[in-house]
Amino acid sequence: MPETVAPSSLRDTLDALSAKHRLRQLKTISDVHRPEITMRGKRIVDFSNNDYLGFAQNPILIEAASEALKTYGVGSAASRLISGTLDIHTQLEHEVAQWKQTPSALVFNSGYQANVGILSALASRHDWIASDKLNHASLIDGGLLSRAHFERYPHLDTERLEALLEKAPKDAQKFIVSDTVFSMDGDIAPLKTLYELSERYDAWLILDEAHATGVFGSQHRSGLWETTGLGHRNRVIQMGTFSKALGSFGAYVAASKDVIDTLIQFSRSFIYSTALPPSVIAANRAAIGLVNANASYTSKLWDNVRTLQALVADSDLMLEIQSPIIPVFVGDEPHALAATQHLLDAGFYVQAIRPPTVPEGTARLRVTLSAAHSEAQIAALVKELQALHLIISEN
Ligand SMILES: *Cc1c(COP(=O)(O)O)cnc(C)c1O
Repeated sequence: MPETVAPSSLRDTLDALSAKHRLRQLKTISDVHRPEITMRGKRIVDFSNNDYLGFAQNPILIEAASEALKTYGVGSAASRLISGTLDIHTQLEHEVAQWKQTPSALVFNSGYQANVGILSALASRHDWIASDKLNHASLIDGGLLSRAHFERYPHLDTERLEALLEKAPKDAQKFIVSDTVFSMDGDIAPLKTLYELSERYDAWLILDEAHATGVFGSQHRSGLWETTGLGHRNRVIQMGTFSKALGSFGAYVAASKDVIDTLIQFSRSFIYSTALPPSVIAANRAAIGLVNANASYTSKLWDNVRTLQALVADSDLMLEIQSPIIPVFVGDEPHALAATQHLLDAGFYVQAIRPPTVPEGTARLRVTLSAAHSEAQIAALVKELQALHLIISEN
């Protein structure tokens, strides 16, 4: 619980959050045919999910999942090390390794569990971790769980990172940890520089490709690392998820065989959890097959990104667009909530992201694009964002 509130009861804590416009609330949606959804009885266009390729409702994935459901049943019945490793789990891991061009791969039950599992298995109390300040919460939690010394360097600041590496204890194992595409800012990490630093300072490089998998890549759309052309490197550990562009659920780690074998021994979030259900595994295999064989989904997504870029260039909106994740900064929590409500009234769902998910003073709308959006939907959203922009700057 945050130390800024001194609760005499749970209700006081909740009321304090509410007074600061920070209370989180679940919003139920129904009749989902993305990008259209129904919320509070109103049909709206969703610009808030991570289903970048529209795979969550892709008929090929649905068919693969249904077949597996009929063949294997609903559950995997045990953890992977007991008797939960089905032939399709192993096949998926082979396919991930091939796709990511690494010697080995391991499937985790979620991105959160993978990140908690990697750092806590590989790093110990005597080790040293440097993590970008805007990395995903799961990487921070993994670092804390490992009990290693944990440094956070300013966002994308590789000079500062190098200064920290310079002072790191010589006998510690060192880890550099970064998202490749940042989940709330949509900007991208300088992978080549991070890799050079990892070489120079004999550090592991752990990369989180959650928002890059299926979105970036020079040939196979396997993530941002692919665009470096560096291929497999022994000190690089890539993780990514099946839950965003790949439309399904779960996560992978792609790395050397020694890293993967070590995770199987020591990664508690892998060991002590039931294996993902067969239908999910089948959907994940179908998603990789589809994105690897067919560039059209990812191309359509990037067409939409370029459409938005062009519309924004012709407007007075000042937006940095480097990926399908576009932050629209509004400053404080009340403005962010009011902006979300305004867009909802206009027929668009764009989520307000507030501290502590993002740093103080950087409350924002997080717009995400998908291959499923039409040009007309994107143009209509830009019009509303412009109207909003005026409302916010006048207040
Ligand atoms: C979403 C996300 C995760 C967690 O993945 P899940 O499969 O949703 O648990 C991890 N890292 C980053 C950068 C993410 O955006």
